[in-house]
Amino acid sequence: MISFSPFSSFWKKTAAALALLTSLAAPLTASAQAHFNGAKALEYARQYVAIGPRWPTGPGHLKAETFLRNHFRRDQLEEDTFTASTPIGPVAMRNFIVRFPGKKNGVIVLATHYETNYPLKNINFVGANDGGSTTGLLMAIADQLRAQTANGKKLDGYSVWLVFDDGEEAIQSWSDSDSLYGTRHLAAKWGRDGTLSRIKAFILADMIGDKDLDIQRESQSTDWLVGVVRQAAKKFGYDRYFFKQSMEVSDDHLPFVRRGVPSIDIIDLNYGPNNSYHHTAKDTMDKISAKSLTIDGDVFMETIRLVNQR
Ligand SMILES: [Zn+2]
Repeated sequence: MISFSPFSSFWKKTAAALALLTSLAAPLTASAQAHFNGAKALEYARQYVAIGPRWPTGPGHLKAETFLRNHFRRDQLEEDTFTASTPIGPVAMRNFIVRFPGKKNGVIVLATHYETNYPLKNINFVGANDGGSTTGLLMAIADQLRAQTANGKKLDGYSVWLVFDDGEEAIQSWSDSDSLYGTRHLAAKWGRDGTLSRIKAFILADMIGDKDLDIQRESQSTDWLVGVVRQAAKKFGYDRYFFKQSMEVSDDHLPFVRRGVPSIDIIDLNYGPNNSYHHTAKDTMDKISAKSLTIDGDVFMETIRLVNQR
């Protein structure tokens, strides 16, 4: 990073000249600042959340698996199955990994959990924001990556892998051993087979469909990656939605953080008045918006670009 005084007249003049150039160039490049299709992400989330509750071992979970399998059937899809040891006994779980190959050696992982909370199975908890919105977000990101890799082409930068992980939520009550089943399994597996050393960034999306978007700076996340996301947000004038508050959150990035993979949890854990929609039957589609998903998508795509430039 170059540091400079914002008060120097040189930079003021340069900024003015750049602004002029930008305004002159604007009519020619009107589509240059095209935004991510948050409406599409919202529509995907709507279709997905319509499945209903998706807790492990339940019928909705099987439907969610079928939904993801059908949606990504023409992509490089891996189903990573494993048996989780949980307080209710062994539970069959399944991560979905969709790969878009890049020209550079290295991988950027975008992740979300897709299941809903087992202890909430009796309250019609559909997880529109919690698990649903970010599944829709990653599906819409996949649309862009798929277009960029049509006809056997490769992405210009690193490969991008989308991970829809299972068993993020506790089966009984949250603890190190009762949570993050899918990502703990995946991080261990990728540690054994050498994949972890190829991961340039692990970027987790959680609960960021909220209409009232207010993404916290998760304190265990990797500093430089937080800086990159901040820079990406700034490009679009989204500063006000990002990192106004700092918070420690236990989430799917931790198994990767603990293994030294640069990781960030992009999360808005302030959902409804006093977080009153979180893990309740109020977590429904009317609480999430295309606008928030547009902001997320813009920032995720720009973050991919910036990580590639490092
Ligand atoms: Zn949750």
